[in-house]
Amino acid sequence: MTATRATVTCPDCDRREAFDELGAARSFIERHRDETGHEATWELHRLDAGVERAGREAGVCGRSECTATDSPLYLGDP
Ligand SMILES: [Zn+2]
Repeated sequence: MTATRATVTCPDCDRREAFDELGAARSFIERHRDETGHEATWELHRLDAGVERAGREAGVCGRSECTATDSPLYLGDP
């Protein structure tokens, strides 16, 4: 049995998917947004709190509206 690394949930269509790779979860979110315009969110598992916070602050798609600009991880506009 593979460990679940991330759970993606989309409140707009009440969807919930578990992923064992963060990259797969991120791809799903991006694809789902392309296909439906929904903003799914992910919940990370089995990471320490600092890493989880970093992932959240960095955003899942890199767009400024998804990124916490007051985070020390924020690098400015791409
Ligand atoms: Zn959706």
